[in-house]
Amino acid sequence: MKLVRYQKNGKVFHGVLEGDKICVLEGDIFGEFWIGRPVARREEVVLLAPIVPPNIICIGLNYKKHAEESGKGFPSKPVIFLKATTSLIGPEDDIILPDEAPDEVDYEAELVIVIGKKAKNLEIDEVSDYILGYTCGNDVSARDCQIRFDQQWARGKSFDTFCPLGPWIETELSDPSHCRIRSRLNGKIMQDSNTADLIFGVKELVSYCSKNFTLLPGTVIMTGTPGGVGFARKPPIFLKRGDSIEIEIEGIGILGNKVV
Ligand code: MG
Repeated sequence: MKLVRYQKNGKVFHGVLEGDKICVLEGDIFGEFWIGRPVARREEVVLLAPIVPPNIICIGLNYKKHAEESGKGFPSKPVIFLKATTSLIGPEDDIILPDEAPDEVDYEAELVIVIGKKAKNLEIDEVSDYILGYTCGNDVSARDCQIRFDQQWARGKSFDTFCPLGPWIETELSDPSHCRIRSRLNGKIMQDSNTADLIFGVKELVSYCSKNFTLLPGTVIMTGTPGGVGFARKPPIFLKRGDSIEIEIEGIGILGNKVV
């Protein structure tokens, strides 16, 4: 099932995308739910970020090639940081280059786990019951703030519009540990990897995070990005006004945003 959040006639709803139709989501997205009647065609609504997360938990340096290109060794435990929830945008929104740091804004394609039930102290074999589904994310990052200006990552990762999520939550992703993941900048492939290369996999991450925080329903965990990001290229490539950046994950879909 593809769970969407959408706006129609000024109101916001959760729904289910079936082909090119948006159907009502009956019941509770964090409990039992089922597909209701069709209410609109896809192009008649505005798709929003598929969930409004109470926390955006991110994992750094979780693909070997990205850990290498970042000049850090492989972490012995997941590297956790947070993005401000105010950085959230949806698949039809623009990434805005911030006035404070417009020059080194970078993309990061990420598989995103969406938590469906309140979770604390989960063991790895309990994790599946707590996952609502998966979506695509772009961990947009101002590298100058992240790497040179600040002592830690909060600001560089959290400017408004720096967390595009979507276009929907796929609840039936058959194997999140074997999905091709790519980013395309103006149509050119920049990252092309597979979640099989994750250092810490989905179940390990959810279990580890749940032993450190309470995971509330709707919490998202961004699982890290593969090699090929802009700052590590020679010469570096950063997002500029007018660019289009797409994140595609096999079995989920394509999240595309323009840069303004
Ligand atoms: Mg990241």
